[in-house]
Amino acid sequence: MMLNFQNISTNTSTELNLDQTPKELWDMAEKLIKEGHDPKAEIVYKKLLNNTNLAPLAYFRLGEIENRNKDIEKSSFYHTKAFKLDKKLTLRLVAPDHPNYYYQYDEVEEIEVKICPLCNGESELHSCFNMISNNAKLYGFNPIRKWRLCRKCNHIFAENYPKNLEEIFSSTGSKNYLKPNVGLFSILSSIISNINSVVSGNKLLEVGVGAGEMISVAKGMLYDVTGLDIRPVYAQNVSERLGVPVYSIDIMRFETDKLFDVIILGDVIEHLSKPTDLLIKCSKMLNEKGVIWISTPNFESAFSNTMKDKDAMWRVWEHLNYFSYTSLNNVLNNLGFEVKDYKISQHYNGSMEVIAKRKS
Ligand SMILES: [Zn+2]
Repeated sequence: MMLNFQNISTNTSTELNLDQTPKELWDMAEKLIKEGHDPKAEIVYKKLLNNTNLAPLAYFRLGEIENRNKDIEKSSFYHTKAFKLDKKLTLRLVAPDHPNYYYQYDEVEEIEVKICPLCNGESELHSCFNMISNNAKLYGFNPIRKWRLCRKCNHIFAENYPKNLEEIFSSTGSKNYLKPNVGLFSILSSIISNINSVVSGNKLLEVGVGAGEMISVAKGMLYDVTGLDIRPVYAQNVSERLGVPVYSIDIMRFETDKLFDVIILGDVIEHLSKPTDLLIKCSKMLNEKGVIWISTPNFESAFSNTMKDKDAMWRVWEHLNYFSYTSLNNVLNNLGFEVKDYKISQHYNGSMEVIAKRKS
């Protein structure tokens, strides 16, 4: 491997004219990286590390290259160095209307996880991403995310996340999400129809109602609905609009005597540091023939496999887990559930949808 790299650098450095102005070198490197010539681009970016103005941007790009090279520690080092040299680097990385344009780098107190949160298996570094370019405002997270892979259950999880995670989640949320997207109703109604075919009973709980599209559709299809959302403004909005109970509480602290026939977990489990605890809690709140519907991004989806490091999911700061069908199926099986249906989401690229029923 090392020999190979040296060969590449020897060959390519003779082809590259490095005797140019820093601006010209930068443009050349950007062109090279766009055309997929990482080894050549790397040489040019490294040359720019001597230039005070361009060094932070060059480190940023080198971080991306080392991620593709699978040298994850080096990628993390470069990404961090970029921000340490220029705390306001995003002013030069994203457009002025981007939510992170005015972001200023600050170190975050973090929890470090090395053991798989699903199976307690050993893990290895998988990738490292600078999440600042993601199109969502970054609150209280370290913009540099290392992902780890557990080979035992084929699961990917965040190595690092903020200590005050719950506080961040309950205090954030975009006002844009308060308005329901009525264009989703038709897709969601086919999901509810699908659930109808495996469930008896109509008591439905949705965890994380967001703007309330799913719970609206379920109510319209004659389910007796209850909702939860950790963000008070979301819970109140949906409760008032639909006239149904929506509680603003973390599901782990939610107490009820009611048993549900269906629990909806739409894009929820990937946000939790311990998804298994949530599934155990759901299991306790379900009838003996109850079902759980889960939608979550799948890192082995056709979409993710096609997009590779361009897949936006790698840069979603609030996601702490990235499931495969194998890891999800495995955890459900261990908790006494059987997957009855497995589909590709019709509205989220790269997400999967699973209906799991308690084994009788
Ligand atoms: Zn695992």
